Amino acid sequence: MDLQIKNLNKQYSNGVVALNNVSLTISKGMFGLLGPNGAGKSSLMRTLATLQDADSGTVTLGDIDVLNDKESLRKVLGYLPQEFGVYPRTSAAELLDHLALLKGFDNRSERKEIVNQLLIKTNLYELRKKSVSSFSGGMKQRFGIAQSLIGNPKLVIVDEPTAGLDPGERNRFYNILSEIGENIIILLSTHIVQDVRELCTQMAIMDNGKVLFSGNTDDALQLVKGKVWERKVEKSELPTYQMGYKIVSNKLVGGKPLIHVFSETDLDEGFVLAEETLEDVFFAKLNELI
Ligand code: ADP
Repeated sequence: MDLQIKNLNKQYSNGVVALNNVSLTISKGMFGLLGPNGAGKSSLMRTLATLQDADSGTVTLGDIDVLNDKESLRKVLGYLPQEFGVYPRTSAAELLDHLALLKGFDNRSERKEIVNQLLIKTNLYELRKKSVSSFSGGMKQRFGIAQSLIGNPKLVIVDEPTAGLDPGERNRFYNILSEIGENIIILLSTHIVQDVRELCTQMAIMDNGKVLFSGNTDDALQLVKGKVWERKVEKSELPTYQMGYKIVSNKLVGGKPLIHVFSETDLDEGFVLAEETLEDVFFAKLNELI
């Protein structure tokens, strides 16, 4: 069952075009939607989660007409929003139980079973009696995943889930996501290239409301393979390089700028061919070099 997004458009009342003719086909597995802040990722996620309307376009999940049959979509949707708001001072187990009740699981013992399984799956079982409001950022995100999985959704949408997590928490979160992502569609929006690199086989790059690339992560890498060159330079030399070359990225390594330059022809003058990375693809697309 695919999620098919066709020609989706959205303009806010302040004139900002957040979605500009967005079309994507998303199959089972983990799909990464990569874009800088303001690209339109949340607008797309909220539209797919039936929380806001598009101006035009169509979205189908299997035979569900997502934009016109919100009730049917919500029955098979799990959603972890960017901002969860205030967590009540309720224990993790009680809150999950309550959310399962709201989702229609009326039978007490069935609910207990569901809650326990979700707590185990997200490594929160030991913490089940603790108040969710006292959880760390990583624990809250794992709780967010647990609640999104109530009722075995077919589509799970997670909006910027790893922003603000430390590396250990991020890894724990990756492991949980990759386990649940095998049989359903998980749509992950992020501005963090590492999220997509580690988790996703399918991806899209978005900026200014437009899809700049969609396809396999491997195909994305092919776009820059053999065309990105790197060199360490002095800080004072940076402006000269910025004028003379198509700079893809520039980051400090050991205090010195390491520049990545896009070039279809071989470069000498101390440049060496860099191993292609998704980061190069991302910045080359955003800077319209490819
Ligand atoms: P992202 O999730 O990629 O950061 P958003 O979808 O949040 O992007 O935002 C896309 C653009 O739409 C931004 O320019 C943002 O300022 C604007 N925007 C988002 N929500 C609203 C809104 N409710 N009203 C007006 N403009 C909005």
